[in-house]
Amino acid sequence: MAIIITDECINCGACEPECPNTAIYEGADDWRYKDGTKLKGKVILPDGTEVDSDEAQTPISDEVYYIVPGKCTECKGFHDEPQCAAVCPVDCCVPDDSHVESEETLLNRQAFLHNE
Ligand code: SF4
Ligand code: SF4
Repeated sequence: MAIIITDECINCGACEPECPNTAIYEGADDWRYKDGTKLKGKVILPDGTEVDSDEAQTPISDEVYYIVPGKCTECKGFHDEPQCAAVCPVDCCVPDDSHVESEETLLNRQAFLHNE
């Protein structure tokens, strides 16, 4: 499953640079699939949806840091544990019960985001 940031977040910013997928953004900032990945231009997501990876997407939260589920791999392919959860001083990076995914799905996403 993806990790989600709860509204307990104190906006310290510690998690953002730790994410190997650039899946974490400051509240109210736009996000893009291409940020921190090999993606560029039009791409087909693993679920079959076509998106423009260069296009700015609407922030998921305007108040606190947020994680883009479609870019989070739970750090699979990079680290043994979610790095955001490891550094968060208030333990507000938690498993998202509404985005439960298999290890295979997470590894496929990691390959999709970073392989040419
Ligand atoms: S679990 Fe890993 S990939 Fe997901 S948001 Fe946290 S640091 Fe990024
Ligand atoms: S480390 Fe935790 S408190 Fe700090 S910005 Fe990230 S989620 Fe929020």
